[in-house]
This record gives sequence, structure tokens and C-alpha cells, in this order.
Amino acid sequence: MIVFVVNCGSSSIKYQLINTQGEYVMAKGLVERIGMEGSALHYSPDGAAAIETKVDIPDHKVGIQLIIDALIDKDNGVIHSMDEIDAVGHRVVHGGERFADSAPITPYVIQGIIDCCDIAPLHNPPNLEGIYACQKIMPDTPMVAVFDTAFHQSMPPAAYLYGLPYEEYENYGLRRYGFHGTSHKYVSMRAARLMGEDVTDVRIITCHLGNGASLAAVKYGHSVDTSMGFTPLEGLIMGTRCGEIDPAVVTYLMEKKGVTAEEMDDELNRRSGVLGISGLSSDFRDLEYAAKAGNPRAELAIDMFSYRVRKFIGSYAAAMGGVDAIVFTAGLGENSGFMRKKICQGLKFLGVEIDPVRNEVRGKECEISKEGSRVKVFVVPTNEELVIARDTLRLCRRMRRNK
Ligand code: ADP
Repeated sequence: MIVFVVNCGSSSIKYQLINTQGEYVMAKGLVERIGMEGSALHYSPDGAAAIETKVDIPDHKVGIQLIIDALIDKDNGVIHSMDEIDAVGHRVVHGGERFADSAPITPYVIQGIIDCCDIAPLHNPPNLEGIYACQKIMPDTPMVAVFDTAFHQSMPPAAYLYGLPYEEYENYGLRRYGFHGTSHKYVSMRAARLMGEDVTDVRIITCHLGNGASLAAVKYGHSVDTSMGFTPLEGLIMGTRCGEIDPAVVTYLMEKKGVTAEEMDDELNRRSGVLGISGLSSDFRDLEYAAKAGNPRAELAIDMFSYRVRKFIGSYAAAMGGVDAIVFTAGLGENSGFMRKKICQGLKFLGVEIDPVRNEVRGKECEISKEGSRVKVFVVPTNEELVIARDTLRLCRRMRRNK
């Protein structure tokens, strides 16, 4: 089956065309700067270098059409016609409490995604744009929504409720949802496989460390806790997001500085995190470089980040009554041996010991714990597109059976 995997942001579309037979990426790329000056299509057929086409892309529909045109192009295309696309898998950020699994896109599912726009105003509207665009261009092709929140719907109330009046949950859906679920699910399954165990027999802490960063406690195959909450702002200190703070800080600062809710939101989401602490950059490559050159604020940002990750690892080991493996993934987790070492420092009491040579690995699936380390530690490059393609295949088969 050929699945077109689509991940729409407000001004971008990431895409892959995956042949599920052999799980082979036929083409992939990115549409960027939609609705802005300098918009472009990047297209890499069959593992080849990206071809960039600068072209005016006013909206998502034009973007999707350009991708399809590239996929069927007679020189660089990988299929002959659009009809060869059997299904479309859409990444959708927020599925609220309604979706504990991926879902074939129906009017009911679309309404569910619309209902979550209120609590995911930056993410769900562009996800919907992508769905509408594909429906217009490929009206007869089955489509599936794969939610970032679905994997965490297995969290128990004790983990997902806030200590607020219960009515806030009942009236406004105020609770922790968690994000990066597709990634946490994929890397926990891979780690179990690398251990030669069934995922239902092991307790794994997954660390998705990119620009956005979250941890999950995956107990016997189910997420029982995760560090992001009602929005992706909670939990770890991130590139530009503050993560956990005393909520009283927000009202205090708003009153002191006389800023609006919107300005406050901008500070917490875009001017905080390691960028705000270092005053330098949100990119850990810059921070590692500056810290090694003696910049004290870069060093402080790195220390704060790794300390917070380490604290979450300890608390998730407690939440699961133990831990059998820790997995690092996403940009920082996959590439930075320096940060992995810093995070795992002092975790020997838990049975975590990193092998310095193995830990030099970058972007490859690998065990990095010492021979005999009681807790296994892995690097597993995440592959959200593959999970989306697999779920799309699984649900299309189910739809066909039920017809
Ligand atoms: P997202 O998808 O959340 O935007 P990524 O998973 O692509 O983020 O991760 C991007 C981040 O990963 C960068 O901001 C950078 O901090 C970090 N990163 C990527 N490569 C390296 C590296 N070699 N060393 C240190 N950090 C890295």
C-alpha cells in the first residue's frame, strides 16, 4: 500500500510517500513559508538530494497540489498518477479525550478535531487545513488521523488531573494530555525489540529531546505519565519554552510588568527555556560550543536542562515501581553524547551506567549502556512518519473488512 504522510504546520507541510510493503520511503520533503515571501517546495525522490523549487504558495491546498505534481512528475516523480496513492495519513496534534487511537477521517472525526482547536489553537487549525486540502484534491482516497495525544490517553486520572477544582476539568477539559505520543510509542516499541523483550513486559522511560522536549513513563506498553500537560509548555525546560514553573509567577509578572495574556504567552513559549537562560540560543549545538568556550550562562542553561531531565527520570522510575530501560530520541537525544552523559550522571543508584565509547553514537539505533548495566540505555532515532503509515494501513484494512 502507498501512503502519503502529511504533517501540516501553520506555514509548512512535511511529507513522505511510504510504501508500506517493505516500509520504504519513496519520496519526502517539505513545503515552507506558506503564505509568505520566499515560499518553496523541497522534494527528495527515493533518497536522492533535495530539489528546491521557489514558487508562490499562498495556502495549504496549493502546497499539497505542488507536492502531488512533484510525486507524479515525469522526470523526478516516483509514481505515475495520483491514483497510485492508496491512503493519506495526517498527523493531528490534539485529539483531546475523544481519541485514544488513530481514526479514519469522517465528519465525526473532523468535528472532534475542530472541538480541540480551542485547546490547541496553534496546531489543530493547520492540521485541519491539510485534511481539507487533501479531501479537495483526492476526494476518493481514504484518510486517517494520527493524534499526538492518543498514546497518552492510557494515563490514570491521578497522573492527568491538576490540583484545580474538579469543575475546571469537567467544564473546560483542563487536564494533562501529553504530546509527542507517536514518537514515545515508536521508540518504546523499538527499545523493547532491541532488548529482546515484549513491550508488555518492560518499563521504559522515553526521552524525546528536540526543540520541544518531553519524557514518558511507558509501563508494559502503556503511557502512564508524561511531562507535557494541557499544552506542550509543561514539564522540561525546552529550547524556548519555560516548562514547569510556579503558576503564581504568571499573575505576578503580568501585574508587575502590566503585560497582556498574549505577551505573557509569548514570553513563556518563545523567549524562555535555554534561550532565555543563556541569552544566546535555543540550539544545543550553540550552547555546547559556548559552554566549552567558558560562557557561564550557556553552562547554566545546560545544567538546568539536564538536571530537570534527570529529576523526571527519577520520578518516572518511582511512578512505575522501577525502570528497565531509558531511551533517547529526537534532535538532541539522538545526536548529543555530551548531553546524554550529563543527564545520566549520578543515576548509578538506579542501575544506569553509560558506556563512554558506545555513547559517541549519532543518529543510529544503538545500546549505549555499559555491559552489565541493570538499566539498559538506548539511542533510537524516532520515526513518526512510519507510525503514521502503519496506523493508516491498519485502519484502512479494518475499514475494508467492515465494508
Ligand atoms: P523539533 O522537531 O522539536 O523542532 P528536533 O528533534 O529536530 O526538533 O531537534 C532540534 C534540536 O536538536 C536543535 O535545536 C538542537 O538543539 C538539537 N540538536 C540537533 N543536532 C544536535 C547535535 N549534533 N548536538 C547537539 N544538539 C543537537
